[in-house]
Amino acid sequence: MKKLVIGNWKMNPATLDDAKKIIKKTRSIASKLNHTDVVACPPFVYIQSAISKRDPNTLKVGAQFVSYEDGGPHTGEVSATMLRDMGVKYVIAGHSEERARGDTDDMVARRVKAIVESGMNAVLCVGEKARDEGGVYLETLKDQIKNSLANIPQSCAKNIVLAYEPIWAIGAKEAMIPDQVYEMSLFVKKVFSDVFNQDQAMKVAVLYGGSVNFRNAAEIIKTGQVDGLLVGRESVNMPGFVELLKAVDSIT
Ligand code: PEP
Repeated sequence: MKKLVIGNWKMNPATLDDAKKIIKKTRSIASKLNHTDVVACPPFVYIQSAISKRDPNTLKVGAQFVSYEDGGPHTGEVSATMLRDMGVKYVIAGHSEERARGDTDDMVARRVKAIVESGMNAVLCVGEKARDEGGVYLETLKDQIKNSLANIPQSCAKNIVLAYEPIWAIGAKEAMIPDQVYEMSLFVKKVFSDVFNQDQAMKVAVLYGGSVNFRNAAEIIKTGQVDGLLVGRESVNMPGFVELLKAVDSIT
């Protein structure tokens, strides 16, 4: 299976000109990779110019957020159908920054449902706020995953990517150590298997996110045995992201 690297640009960069430059660079490096799929998730306003009608597959474009409503009086919202029709292939749901703004597991589950039922791929973000010696965080994480996947039809499991992002490692100085990433990737797969089944859990892509950069990316994937990465700051930092993609693609 190819590695999957998803760039979450967050609310960056400040201008459309800079966004176009990042897309151009990212598409150019993505076209040279053999073992890695790349997805860029810019802010909504840059999505249209990020999508290439001529070549939509070299660099897939994702969104960072979506409404769970399909239309109507919801000022400021954007629906899954609108995104799908623009050519968006992936949508992030349940990012900790959205959860901090009030998204509950129930709302996240409704977003995931809207995404997968419209035919796109949902990047479901899960992760603990902090760790405790007694391992209570594992129970909390298990509940978060199960509740965020409530009412998702079994047939849509193949359109879900699990992004494990320990909140304490997001925007931090250091990523989680790769041995711990490995433990956690097994854990989230097990919970996915409880929700769907073992077969789906074998197939689901598990990504790690949290302070990934070009220096630590390959080791996290190799030792952490994850299928890819969800990258925040480094995804809009050139040439760091180019180096990161090359490092990931050269994993044997
Ligand atoms: C993120 O916001 O999903 C993320 C992983 O951020 P960073 O890589 O900047 O820690």
